Amino acid sequence: MDIPLDDEFVISRGRVDHVESAFVRVRLEGGTEGIGEAAPFPALTGETRDDTTLAILRLREGLLDQSVLHSRRLAAWMASAEPDYPAARCGIETALLDALTRALGIPLWTWLGGARPDLQPETDITLPILPVARTVELAEQWYARGFRRIKTKVGLDADADTERVRRIAEALGDVRFVLDANQGFHPDVAIRFFRGLLQSGVRIELIEQPVARDDLLGMAAVRKAVDVPLVADESVTSPAEAVDVIRSGAADVINLKIMKSGVFGALHIAAVARAAGLRLMIGGMMETRLAMGCSLALVVGHGEIEFVDLDTPLLMASDPVRGGFRYDGPRMVRCLEPGLGCELAPESPRP
Ligand SMILES: [Mg+2]
Repeated sequence: MDIPLDDEFVISRGRVDHVESAFVRVRLEGGTEGIGEAAPFPALTGETRDDTTLAILRLREGLLDQSVLHSRRLAAWMASAEPDYPAARCGIETALLDALTRALGIPLWTWLGGARPDLQPETDITLPILPVARTVELAEQWYARGFRRIKTKVGLDADADTERVRRIAEALGDVRFVLDANQGFHPDVAIRFFRGLLQSGVRIELIEQPVARDDLLGMAAVRKAVDVPLVADESVTSPAEAVDVIRSGAADVINLKIMKSGVFGALHIAAVARAAGLRLMIGGMMETRLAMGCSLALVVGHGEIEFVDLDTPLLMASDPVRGGFRYDGPRMVRCLEPGLGCELAPESPRP
């Protein structure tokens, strides 16, 4: 499915004006169906929709006649069979877990632990790299809808980024920023950039992936020099990479994404991070409410994911998903239906 965006989405590593998603449907013996979404983001993971679709088709053969009750075993097999296609595996894992929990008659978030059943987490809202006037206009619209945590993409040009963030901060007042450089800065530039913003009174809640994913020394240097929690995103796609980040002192927070690691992979990374005292964030690629519903189920089910960046359905010009969770301003309200509680409906209105 191709889903248009309201504004071109520009980050330091590339730009997109529509989302290219692939959807997976599995059918259990007995007829129960589950659906999942594979949302590759070529600029970040190198996966394209064509690659992803082919990987899904390769994995299909190995899943026929297997038991969905063995979902963790199936996920482990998929990770070994297609290590380079996490979005493909995520789509299938999500569909399997949706089918399993529908067959059981329980919401997915309860199967994932039901740690905080009443939680309505508040998501930030992402502003891509756009001309200042358009960015401020968008920021004011989101502010009017209740959003107080603004995620801004930075990392293309430190001077232009500084100007844009300051202008948003001036226009809105009481907002906090998550600043995501998507690996775009050299460590020295990152330190000057973030210190400059802090000195001018901008309230920064989190700094995300300021430097290249493999430059853990650079990450550690930024973390030491700037007094704001630092998030590793691109640096962590597996439990082993989480261990590297922890040993290097490179981050305070790890950003989980089911498209990077699959659902079970995200749980493994979360366990490693929490054991070492790191905090948890969850985000996504450009995903519809189907994949975001799975991530929300992790937030509610796991209970220790503090920072929520699950906003991309709000950036799309249409919503191809019917049912499932809903947004109440920035709050995300989980659904009580079995599984993910949603269906694909390509003609649905916007969220
Ligand atoms: Mg990020």
